[in-house]
Amino acid sequence: MTATPQSSNLHDLLAGGFPADRTKPCFILPDETELSYGALEQMVARVAGYLLAQGLSPGDRVVVKDEKSIAFVAVYLGTLKAGGVFVPLNSAYTQSEMEYFIGNSEPAIVITNAPAYVADAEASGHLMQHTVARAEDDVACLIYTSGTTGRSKGAMLTHRNLAANALALHDIWGFTPKDVLLHALPIFHVHGLFVAMHCAFLSGCPMIWLSKFVDADVLAGLRRATVMMGVPTFYTRLLANAGFTRELANHVRLFISGSAPLLPTTFEEFEERTGQRILERYGMSEAVIITSNPLSGQRIAGSVGYPLPGVDLRIGGGEEIGVIEIRGPSVFGGYWRMPEKNMEEFRDGFFITGDVGRRDPDGRLYISGRAKDLIISGGYNVYPKEIELVLDDMPGVTESAVIGLPHPDFGEGVCAVVIGNGNESAMIAECRTKLAAFKIPKRILFVDDLPRNAMGKVQKNLLRQRHADLFAGA
Ligand code: AMP
Repeated sequence: MTATPQSSNLHDLLAGGFPADRTKPCFILPDETELSYGALEQMVARVAGYLLAQGLSPGDRVVVKDEKSIAFVAVYLGTLKAGGVFVPLNSAYTQSEMEYFIGNSEPAIVITNAPAYVADAEASGHLMQHTVARAEDDVACLIYTSGTTGRSKGAMLTHRNLAANALALHDIWGFTPKDVLLHALPIFHVHGLFVAMHCAFLSGCPMIWLSKFVDADVLAGLRRATVMMGVPTFYTRLLANAGFTRELANHVRLFISGSAPLLPTTFEEFEERTGQRILERYGMSEAVIITSNPLSGQRIAGSVGYPLPGVDLRIGGGEEIGVIEIRGPSVFGGYWRMPEKNMEEFRDGFFITGDVGRRDPDGRLYISGRAKDLIISGGYNVYPKEIELVLDDMPGVTESAVIGLPHPDFGEGVCAVVIGNGNESAMIAECRTKLAAFKIPKRILFVDDLPRNAMGKVQKNLLRQRHADLFAGA
């Protein structure tokens, strides 16, 4: 599983994990058809050959904006093999958003139909046997951050960054060739593209390949899977389905959650239903995975666990709770063509994540939210998570999002948006018994659902816009 000595190309590390028997399945589709590792390898060699025939030079960007498919994966690995820089984009982006990404990344090739591209590559007859050599600090992928404020930034992940993280996860989560990974995540994002797929490739295990989370397909897939990786909404959807039983979850050895906070209530309900504790981990586009709960040992609701081996993690500002700063082999090489951002967001080798957290005496990390979601009300810092935990515990509340809204007196007023129903004044009264006065929501709004992005993250910026005038006349 080591790359050739003269090259640190991630492609060779991943392909080095493919099973010696290449007839073994890599992808298992819902209709039970399979595609072998050997077939994927062939596709990748053809794509790489075709990219080179089209004039791709080492370091050139290849943008792919398309739905999830095996062809998309072949283009990913083919781009690496040909020495290019892979740039996946959310298939939901509009034309004007695409113009920005293309202007910013200046790709040599843009692919909007991966299956057609692979078919052209196969018809062209080019086949590439040797991987283009790359150094460990060369960029392998540009991942555009979801960018809820300002322009999206391209995080430059190097071959070393991705290799280090893949090897660490494969190891700490105990992947073996006997595993079967249920893959229902999108692959334009680090979670589905790197975290999940790299673990499968390094162990040479098959993936149950679902284009998206469809309850019936996931339930059927769980009959064969040993590991499932998901965002928290996958788990709430499973729990809402009576067909998701302890028996069905029985032979799954590991349920992993990340990309957004897993509610303690979901963690607890899941344990009640299945007898298993979800393993929560924390990551971001700029560093892939940063911390994880342990495979063996206590997994604690509300904690994202310990830093991965080799990751230095500190809380900035010298307070108990503050912005999480990280350094380590998987921390990205900076933002593409944004030297001023790199100056601002790195401090003595540490990347300032923008997430706020604290560590317990044992070293476990707890995340309280994004720094930009911190509320300053009447001069006091209010961490939304603390209030959300109190609200989530109340009967009738499924989930809550606490935000700060412009307030004529306090600067910002605390407002809670809650999925569920209840009596606003009774709930505010209950908050008073548990929280200091400055933290008490001035209003609680009841909704059917919260706005979320493709990874299930609640978009507090949209909530703030939507309710911006709530306290205008206060
Ligand atoms: P992205 O770059 O789109 O993957 O978003 C990364 C952000 O997601 C992080 O900076 C966190 O704010 C959030 N995030 C990821 N995993 C978790 C988690 N387990 N708990 C809480 N927040 C998380």
